[in-house]
Amino acid sequence: MKHLLLFDIDGTLVKFKTRRSRSIFMGMFLDLFGVETNHSDLPDFSGMTDLSILYSIADSTGFDRAKINRNIDRIWKYLIDEFRPISTKENLELLVNADVLLATLNKSNNITLGLLTGNFKGNAYLKLSVYDLVKYFAFGAFGDDYFDRNSLPPVAFGRANKLAGENMYSFLNSIIIGDSPRDIECAQANNMKVLAVATGLFSRQDLMVNSPDIILNDFSDIDKAIDALESLGVGL
Ligand SMILES: [Mg+2]
Repeated sequence: MKHLLLFDIDGTLVKFKTRRSRSIFMGMFLDLFGVETNHSDLPDFSGMTDLSILYSIADSTGFDRAKINRNIDRIWKYLIDEFRPISTKENLELLVNADVLLATLNKSNNITLGLLTGNFKGNAYLKLSVYDLVKYFAFGAFGDDYFDRNSLPPVAFGRANKLAGENMYSFLNSIIIGDSPRDIECAQANNMKVLAVATGLFSRQDLMVNSPDIILNDFSDIDKAIDALESLGVGL
């Protein structure tokens, strides 16, 4: 049986060494709209889609969500222009063996790789490009598709099926791989299995609260990661 593996990016494949995203989003509100924000106006970004981050900041500062929607292309352009110069190996860490795991999985004819990330599409591929990981992901569902992460899996299935040329992927044979409680919730809301990995901001204990199907500390042991996927029914 074929499987679709949907990877999160931040905290799962790569991770910023410092929390640069927060100041970039604050700078965007100031530079494009003249709106001053405080750190307390910002939510915890982990697992949130970029669109939901924008709405959340808007709500806590009394800014109109409709104005976000009207200016969304300008906003994505501003953000990617700010993220581009800092998306370097100095600032962005490749999580241990993430590249080796992807290379291994990519060799299997029984596995299709896709993205399911809160990053808007441009930023998702920008981050992946730092470590030459773009080649593994022909498609995905992104933080500019919907504000609600739980709405993203059907988008990913649709794109996977379009690329395959037949209706072969659904919640039944797709698995989410991510580092935050929101990845786990997203899988569970869509009746999907989920492999959680504790390389982001959340510990194994934090992730256990949400009862993922399986948890790994990291991908340092590739055989262990493959075994974990096999325990979820994925055959290489
Ligand atoms: Mg993440």
